[in-house]
Amino acid sequence: MFYYSTNHSAARATLRDAVVRGLAEDRGLYMPEVIKQLPASFWSEMADLTFQEVAYRVADAFFGEDVEADALRKIVYDTLAFDTPVVRVEDNIYALELFHGPTLAFKDVGARFMARLLQYFLGGDGSEVNVLVATSGDTGSAVANGFLGVEGIHVYVLYPKGKVSPIQECQFTTLGQNITALEVDGVFDDCQALVKSAFMDQELNAHMRLTSANSINVARFLPQAFYYFWAYAQLLKASKLSSSDSQLVVCVPSGNFGNICSALFGHAMGLPIKRFIAANNANSVFYEYLQSGDYRPRPSVQTIANAMDVGDPSNFARILELYKGDHARIVSLISGATYTDDQIAATMRDCYARTGYVLDPHGACGYRALKEQLQSGEVGVFLETAHPAKFKDTVDHILGIDLPIPEKLQAFMRGQKQSVPISKDFADFKAYLLQQ
Ligand SMILES: *Cc1c(COP(=O)(O)O)cnc(C)c1O
Repeated sequence: MFYYSTNHSAARATLRDAVVRGLAEDRGLYMPEVIKQLPASFWSEMADLTFQEVAYRVADAFFGEDVEADALRKIVYDTLAFDTPVVRVEDNIYALELFHGPTLAFKDVGARFMARLLQYFLGGDGSEVNVLVATSGDTGSAVANGFLGVEGIHVYVLYPKGKVSPIQECQFTTLGQNITALEVDGVFDDCQALVKSAFMDQELNAHMRLTSANSINVARFLPQAFYYFWAYAQLLKASKLSSSDSQLVVCVPSGNFGNICSALFGHAMGLPIKRFIAANNANSVFYEYLQSGDYRPRPSVQTIANAMDVGDPSNFARILELYKGDHARIVSLISGATYTDDQIAATMRDCYARTGYVLDPHGACGYRALKEQLQSGEVGVFLETAHPAKFKDTVDHILGIDLPIPEKLQAFMRGQKQSVPISKDFADFKAYLLQQ
């Protein structure tokens, strides 16, 4: 299968090239040329399949032409070494918990899949591939852990000194093995600029093979469709949905819109989702697009749901492409919501008091949008995109509790921090990489 760019001027790419490059040469995002429908046999067997097998069937529709069946099955099974359970919060409202992976957030799924697919395409010839990733916190941990121990790949995580919470920092500085953390004396933008300069530097690229693990990469983004199929299968198995007339509403707390976009791909493959809600924090560019038809990106504002602080969501281009820019069609399928920090906090308190369920600030946006918009007869699932303990200070403060830290997170916190201090000058970063 080939992949084309949302900007329509780059040449179409193979899966391998799309994965290695990340972004197309015309700076557009790659889209698969064909979105395959899943066969009738898949739907009739679904209730008897495991999560890994459901995911493999979906992966086969995306990648089956380009990856050998046995290898693809292994990649999917290795990726999904943890569950994404659907948990009842109250009548007709369920949380799809995506925080049971190594770094307790949904980005684990895409990062683990991408690491293994990259190894499939580039590994085996003896030369090492180097992944450079700049992070303001959560992406670095998902990517580092996704690639941890994957042979033939070395990961350099660049993060701004003193600007990352201790809980976040320990998730990528304590790993060792094939992961190196570089502590940059600067801000996140400096880290990103260093990575960009490295990709453009000819001498460096002649010295070592460099690639990125950006969230817009098709190998990180498409695998997120897996857990929507699994959520549907779980609700079917539990007789919460009828297969003849699905009343499923999926609500996705959104920032860069990769997660909801992968759900829209699932829908295009035949997944019976009735409609979607994109829940935003105060960064409401997409919400306003739905209301007005005008897309007006602007700088992001800081909120307590900070992984959604995005003022110009990259995957908006994919959504437009999927529906050929048809605003009316988009509005008929997706509604929006936007919440201030005060509303997010009030929602967390209300949900906890009534149900005992501890929402994280991102999931709280999703829960609230379902509460406000779910109609009678519908069944709502919102995504719990991260474990609340990842935002312990915020959650404890809002709920007045002392949230226990899961063992997985404690294990990171016990680890020995190892990082290499570097300045924000590209010359220093380059000199460091040339010695590796
Ligand atoms: C990345 C992230 C989001 C936003 O997901 P997008 O795919 O960028 O829309 C939401 N919640 C958490 C916890 C995240 O880490």
